[in-house]
Amino acid sequence: AKSEGKSTYHFFEASLDEEARRRRQLELDLGQAVREGHFELHFQPLYSMTQQRLKGFEALIRWNHPERGRISPADFIPLAEETGLIIPIGEWVIRQACAQAASWPGDISVAVNISPRQFSSPVLAQTIVQSLAAAGLPAHRLELEITESIFIGNVERTLGMLHGLRTLGVRIALDDFGTGYSSLSYLRSFPFDKLKIDQSFVRDLGNDASAHAIIRAITTLAAALGIETLAEGVELEATMDALRREGCDLVQGYLISRPVPAGAVAALVQQMNGG
Ligand code: C2E
Ligand code: CA
Ligand code: CA
Ligand code: CA
Repeated sequence: AKSEGKSTYHFFEASLDEEARRRRQLELDLGQAVREGHFELHFQPLYSMTQQRLKGFEALIRWNHPERGRISPADFIPLAEETGLIIPIGEWVIRQACAQAASWPGDISVAVNISPRQFSSPVLAQTIVQSLAAAGLPAHRLELEITESIFIGNVERTLGMLHGLRTLGVRIALDDFGTGYSSLSYLRSFPFDKLKIDQSFVRDLGNDASAHAIIRAITTLAAALGIETLAEGVELEATMDALRREGCDLVQGYLISRPVPAGAVAALVQQMNGG
């Protein structure tokens, strides 16, 4: 038993070491990706069920690693947050998203994810103003997706930042709604333009009566507050029908389309919205 314990200990030590090395390498690679521009934006449609048209696209970053192929944002955005590389990466995303959206029809908007560290950066507003100007994109066609984790810490300061961004004319969406601890209290404190209901509620719609009740409560509350609702991760026709019945305004998910490269956006708009 004693020798067993010992070998387990050595194994554990080695794997921790391995993990640390892997992480360090990923960090170095991420720095190189920022310098050499190994990122790409894909765009996923936001579809209005009431108007039966595409209203906009969410920009989703892709990292094309020269050796490892495509790495998911779920695997590198947290590391980018920790290391601070999210600032240059996020700046690139905003510039690129504005530049792309400027070539789309005038009623189509673009939504950009803003991570907590990026949100608290003093250069965010300036980056947005400059990116809109450089692209010639009207501010109301840019939507910022933030999560309620930006409220952790100084709530007053966060509200000040949100109002400042709103003054620029951009729209503000609350992402992953329902996954936090006190989502409702934030609805009282800031007039969000849109709530994005998290996939976890949407996925349960098929067989779960309480999921229906939750969606209905969210859409009723949002409508009373004049906030649009969008359901994420819609994969089935039946789910979309249920969401429509529960009063949800927009859907996003594989049912409408997977995220597509920039070059495929125009054809998708043409196909869904007509000439
Ligand atoms: P998110 O903001 O909640 O984005 C939605 C995610 O759900 C995307 O994953 C999208 O591809 C995926 N998705 C869309 N429809 C469906 C569906 O019908 N079924 C399923 N199973 N999934 C669906 P993705 O692109 O891998 O992004 C993951 C997360 O990474 C995003 O979650 C967001 O938090 C973060 N992220 C992506 N791009 C950026 C970015 O440019 N900046 C920042 N800060 N974060 C980003
Ligand atoms: Ca999002
Ligand atoms: Ca989301
Ligand atoms: Ca999410």
